[in-house]
Order: sequence, then structure tokens, then C-alpha cells
Amino acid sequence: MASWFGRNTEIRIDDCDGKGACTGACPFAESMDFAPHQLMRLLQIGDDSCVLRSNAAWICTDCMACNAACPSKVDVGGVFAHLRRISIQEDATLPPDVEMVRLLHDAFVEELKGYGRVNDVHVAMAYKARSLDFTDLGLAFQLFSRGRLRPFAARKTRGFREWFASIEEEGG
Ligand code: SF4
Repeated sequence: MASWFGRNTEIRIDDCDGKGACTGACPFAESMDFAPHQLMRLLQIGDDSCVLRSNAAWICTDCMACNAACPSKVDVGGVFAHLRRISIQEDATLPPDVEMVRLLHDAFVEELKGYGRVNDVHVAMAYKARSLDFTDLGLAFQLFSRGRLRPFAARKTRGFREWFASIEEEGG
């Protein structure tokens, strides 16, 4: 098993028999550089050179169709979520298109930590500030003029940041 994978997780990847039911069920497997069953195999044999640079964990949408299909009850979706956490902790280098997904993920999580809820406009602005991609600003103005964007601050949910910090401390 990849040396870092067992950190802060109890997911049992050795139960995976590699038959690929997860890949058959995954609606996004074709867009991944490694399909779910291939990624599980790479983790089992400890080939960590490419796993953290893979786009797969960042394309995964947590739909959990893989978990529902797995006859061995392996938490494949949990593996992908764990890979995203490790990738952030290790500051892994990602392909440019996947890096954009990660920046959006970071903006979303920061908003959630700050308010306990998500305002789309805040997330979009934080993402733009991180990515410096302003190519679709015209679309934002169109949406705003039609009243589809509400840039006002969400009311904070008290104690959410502390709760989030306690989860992170526990390795979540
Ligand atoms: S949770 Fe991720 S890996 Fe599993 S089926 Fe959904 S998109 Fe695919």
C-alpha cells in the first residue's frame, strides 16, 4: 500500500478485488486518467508516484455510485475524498486544468468555514482572485443585471469555524 495512504483513515483498500464494478458504475470514469479500479490497484501495490498527480480525485463528484456497486463493500468514494485531503496536505503538483478544480474547492471550503453556508458570489470572487481567470466576467455582469446573483454576505453560523478546526485536528 502507498506509504502515506493509511494516514488518518480506516478505509480498507486491500478488500478490493479489482474486478472494476466501481469503474462500471462511475459516471466520470472516462474523464479520469486512472479509472477508479485502476487507482485502487495503484494504491494497493504502493505506486504513489502518479496517484497524487492524477486528475481522478478532483473529477470525482462524491456521487458514491462506486460504493453502491462494489460487491466487497469497499469505500471507493471515501478513497477519492481521502486522496483530495492528502493532495492538499502534501501540496501535490496537479495538471493545470485540475489545479483550477482545486482552487474552486479551496474557495468553497473557505467560504463554508467562514460562514457555515455558501454564497455563490463570494465563492466565485475568491476563485477568481486565486485563479486570475477573468475571461467570463461579462457573464457575471449579465447574471447580476438579471438579479440571478446576490452578492450580499450570508449570515454567519456561530461556532462553525471552531467545529471545522476540530475536524481538521482529528485528520478529517
Ligand atoms: S464517488 Fe467519485 S469515483 Fe465513485 S462513482 Fe462517483 S464520481 Fe466516480
